[in-house]
Parts: sequence; structure tokens; C-alpha cells
Amino acid sequence: MARSGGSGAGCVRVEGATKRFRQGTTVEALRDATIEFAPGGFTAVMGASGSGKSTLLHAVAGLTRLDEGKAIVDGIDLSALSDRALTVFRRRRIGLVFQAFNLIPSLTAEQNATLPVVVDGRDEDEARERVARMFERLGIAHRRDHRPDALSGGEQQRVAIARALVADPAVVLADEPTGSLDSVTGQAICRILKELCAESGRTIVVVTHEPAVAVWADRVVVLRDGRVLAEFPAAPFADAHALAAHYQDVVATGPALAGGAAS
Ligand code: ADP
Ligand code: MG
Repeated sequence: MARSGGSGAGCVRVEGATKRFRQGTTVEALRDATIEFAPGGFTAVMGASGSGKSTLLHAVAGLTRLDEGKAIVDGIDLSALSDRALTVFRRRRIGLVFQAFNLIPSLTAEQNATLPVVVDGRDEDEARERVARMFERLGIAHRRDHRPDALSGGEQQRVAIARALVADPAVVLADEPTGSLDSVTGQAICRILKELCAESGRTIVVVTHEPAVAVWADRVVVLRDGRVLAEFPAAPFADAHALAAHYQDVVATGPALAGGAAS
């Protein structure tokens, strides 16, 4: 089922975003950054450690508030929402996947995956059915009643992906989702993210420093020092090595000489 997108579903735009952290000195994690993620697109956000990737993702997820500028998701300006409204927004509209999986140790795989719907007070039986279908699809149906510590990293991340999708969000945000996994498992997770998002027309943004992950995307956005340094389509690159080489060029020479488009 494709999304109509008529109401701005899946559209993500960050405009003039500035975020400062004060710890003795002030760090500008984002500096007047403007980025648009098209509905249904799969974007990889790359950049050195400390370039602002996680802060960008958190701003779009409503996990952090910007000092200046706006994050607009599904047509909603997040700065206009109260903390409470932001929490509900996040539960219903955003699927989040983290490097550390962030599953609750005392809950089973199924309970973890249905949690966003349960805490939202919505139909639990329907959520369980959805999760059952996703677990089947993800090859973890036999792990339904296991707790996270009995699961492999790849299985835990599959549970986290089911949890991210249980509320049927138009936007899925993943921060280094393969960072704790071996490369074969990481590739399997990329394939799952791509398939599950593509078939439902979800917008997906994956933060990664791994070219082997970025090569799954349609588009790569490169951050440096809290700004967009460049962006380029991923499709022309035959494999992760070719993409890595271009990424290195962009980082070394800047977008103009490397042929990328500055923003
Ligand atoms: P990345 O994900 O690209 O590694 P981050 O967005 O996590 O980068 O961080 C960008 C900058 O902001 C870094 O200099 C980091 O130290 C700083 N920063 C991020 N979060 C916080 C925080 N909660 N408190 C203080 N500084 C932070
Ligand atoms: Mg980060």
C-alpha cells in the first residue's frame, strides 16, 4: 500500500536548524542546517564523529528542541508542540531504531515490539497481530517469547525494527543501526529496513559512517561541523567501495571540486 502523501505524510524538513550544547564552552551541534527528506525516500546521513548526525535525527524525532530554526514532520512544526504532544507525536508518527537496540530487558520480544501501541492505549490485539506478521517476515517468530538477553544482536535489532514499525509511522529514523552488528548481519538489517520501508512508502533516514550501509540508500547527505557539506545520489555507485571513494573525495575537497551539490 502506497501512502497518498496528500497531508504531507512522510515529509521531513529541517530549516535553518541550530542546536547548541553548553558544557563550560558552547558547542554548536547544528549550525543553520537546512535539509529536506522526500516522502518515501531512503537517505543516509554520513559525516565524521561529532558532525551533528545524531542531533539532527533527534531534532526530527522530537527528542531534542532546536535553539533556532524548525523541524517540520508530516506538516507539523515540532517547535509548536508541548512536551506532552511531542511524546504522542513520536509514538504515533516516528519509528526509531538505535545502535544499542534499547529493548526493555524484562519484557519478551513480543512485548517490546508492541510497547509503543500499548503505552499509547491503543488496540493491543491488533498490535500483536501486526507484530506476529512482522516477526514471521523477519524470521524471528520462534523468538516471540524470549527476553532480549536470550537473543543475538541481529535478532534484537529485528525486534527493535518491528517495534519501530508497529504504529505504522510514515517516518523511520535509525541512528547507526548496524553499529553493534557484524557485517553480514548488518547487511541483512539494511535489506530489511529498505524492503519494509519501500513497500509501505515510508520515509527513512539512516545515520551511518559505514559506506556499506549508505549504499542501500537513494541519497547521501554529508554533514560537517553541524552543516550540510554535500549531498549526492547513491545509485551511481556500484558498491560500497565506490561510494566510500566518492565520500572521501567530498570530505577531502568539499562539494564543488568533488562534483556534489552544496545545500
Ligand atoms: P554525531 O552523531 O555526528 O557523532 P552528535 O550530534 O552526537 O554528532 O554531536 C555533535 C556535537 O554536539 C558534538 O560535539 C557533541 O559532543 C555535542 N553534543 C551532542 N549531544 C550533546 C549533549 N547532550 N551535551 C553536550 N554536547 C553534546
Ligand atoms: Mg551519533
